[in-house]
Amino acid sequence: MALLGLVGRAWRSLNHKLLPCELANRLVETARYCAVMQPVVVDTRGRPVRDLRISVTDRCNFRCGYCMPAEIFNREYEFLSRDLLLSFEEITRVARAFAQLGTSKIRLTGGEPLLRKGIEDLVALLAEIGDLELTLTTNGSLLARKAEALAKAGLRSEEHTSELQSH
Ligand code: SF4
Repeated sequence: MALLGLVGRAWRSLNHKLLPCELANRLVETARYCAVMQPVVVDTRGRPVRDLRISVTDRCNFRCGYCMPAEIFNREYEFLSRDLLLSFEEITRVARAFAQLGTSKIRLTGGEPLLRKGIEDLVALLAEIGDLELTLTTNGSLLARKAEALAKAGLRSEEHTSELQSH
């Protein structure tokens, strides 16, 4: 419960224009606090939370009606500016903190995660954490172009069970 409250507070802070680096710090502090209070992250029913989804961009090159309805995601819609996104280093820091709390699977998602420039560099950073199943959800449109770099970065390394899932 304490963890959920603190995480909730951290995310609410985001809505109050918390800088990405401040949010990353807040999440890492939360993870450290919980590691002392409780060795694993649990949900409201006390079940260990093993999976963490990390959205690396709110942008997508598709406009599926149920996800990005045209009346909202029109030409006037403003996606997050680059300076409001967590950097790869900040994402890795948060992922590492959660891994220490029992998270064993990380799924990179979006929007469309392959639109994030240099996504393979993030995969490489996350692959260094170890003992982590690293997965990525994609609409597949850029996969042919990115597959080799992602594989080289470790998305299909021996140390990590990896999976590419289409929307
Ligand atoms: S491809 Fe996925 S992220 Fe993009 S609009 Fe469709 S459901 Fe949403």
